[in-house]
Amino acid sequence: MSSFKSKYQDELIANAAYIGTPGKGILAADESTGTIGKRLASINVENVEANRRALRELLFTTPGAFECLSGVILFEETLYQKTASGKPFVELMKEGGVLPGIKVDKGTVELAGTNGETTTQGLDGLGARCQKYYEAGARFAKWRAVLKIGPNEPSELAIHENAYGLARYAVICQENGLVPIVEPEILVDGPHDINKCAEVTERVLAACYKALNDHHVLLEGTLLKPNMVTPGSESKKVTPEVIAQYTVTALQRTVPAAVPAIVFLSGGQSEEEATLNLNAMNKSQGKKPWSLSFSFGRALQQSTLKAWGGKDENIKKAQDALFARCNANSHATLGTYKGDATLAEGASESLHVKDYKY
Ligand code: 13P
Repeated sequence: MSSFKSKYQDELIANAAYIGTPGKGILAADESTGTIGKRLASINVENVEANRRALRELLFTTPGAFECLSGVILFEETLYQKTASGKPFVELMKEGGVLPGIKVDKGTVELAGTNGETTTQGLDGLGARCQKYYEAGARFAKWRAVLKIGPNEPSELAIHENAYGLARYAVICQENGLVPIVEPEILVDGPHDINKCAEVTERVLAACYKALNDHHVLLEGTLLKPNMVTPGSESKKVTPEVIAQYTVTALQRTVPAAVPAIVFLSGGQSEEEATLNLNAMNKSQGKKPWSLSFSFGRALQQSTLKAWGGKDENIKKAQDALFARCNANSHATLGTYKGDATLAEGASESLHVKDYKY
């Protein structure tokens, strides 16, 4: 038996499986105060607590959205916030059948001696923080490790360091009742082709599952949040069917069948692209022992943010845009998306930002 015995074992397994329920996925709304500031600046809204709260209330009270979601990832501030009428967001989620999650990493720092590669911080005191978040209602967590593709990257050092960081984080979460989302994001930046992305994705995921096993992580109580396998941002685009084939193959080769669900990040794809790619994967034939779903940040929120513009009179329009994306992605988890979501302004826009920091 390689996995340790957590007193939360049954709960971890049940919650991870629930998040992977076909037809549902995750809304990543865990932008740190700095990152949400950039989003708000793009619509000329000041980055103050009241505005951050208002945006999150708009998201979490969107009619119909929670039916398409099984989880929402929050930043610490949001975990303790309430609606304008005084209902805690966590309560709202519980009533809507959505599990609250929490971002627990503290961002990246450069790995000395590398060409700008990074490691993720946040392990110190993590157990105590997880305990506190569990008490506040969180049931899963996120830790984002970042790798990049370059002539000599990712280096063995970066792969090893990030895999072990993710594994340490994962086991600490499980000791404290939180399902860890293991997120080794390989950035899309660069001129590489899809074959290169596939090779690197396989190498990174293989290292992550070796580390998770070494650290006695209970895989049934985890989720994987990977990048899709795509050509680099400075390379020619390929169809969703090609992306689906490469991505599913890379996952088949590296992700154990014990993992209940794989929830993709959108990584700078447009809203519509991310949905079409997910849909193509779920339509494709072949072995898929895990459910394939979404944990999108930018690809769920971009058109909503634009429609809102910080104005109360636009809330309905903004919520319609969010519902359209949630509904489209819900269908994509079943492979039944017809490409017919109402395309709000911005839905086809690339959201890629070079060297993106979440
Ligand atoms: P994107 O979907 O915007 O890539 O973000 C998801 C996320 O939570 C990254 O950690």
